Amino acid sequence: MKAPTDPPAEQREQLLRQIDQLARRALFGTISETYRTCGTPGCCCHSDGPKHGPHLYVSYRGDKGKTTGYYVPQAIQAQVRESIEAWNQLQSHLRRLAELNKERLMETHRRKKRTFATGSN
Ligand SMILES: [Zn+2]
Repeated sequence: MKAPTDPPAEQREQLLRQIDQLARRALFGTISETYRTCGTPGCCCHSDGPKHGPHLYVSYRGDKGKTTGYYVPQAIQAQVRESIEAWNQLQSHLRRLAELNKERLMETHRRKKRTFATGSN
């Protein structure tokens, strides 16, 4: 747990570091799991046995608003799930950062105004 007394500047630096880390591995898309039958005749998946899977499929909206996607190789499924979660964390971190940016900007503005008002000669 972080001390609630962290000055905003330090909070901001910490957020920026976390955002940097998350951004390096973030993947964009929505995961869906599919179960499929294979090409082996007589495999249990063709009768009442369990089908093969889950096969992970990541879909997302591409450049022109067209939905696209890709199948994820078994070996990197966990990594892909984690990276898509990183994207979601990134979004909430960025929202918090934007909030801190706003407070910082307003504070700078207030301070400038004060300096200007008292420093005029
Ligand atoms: Zn099969």
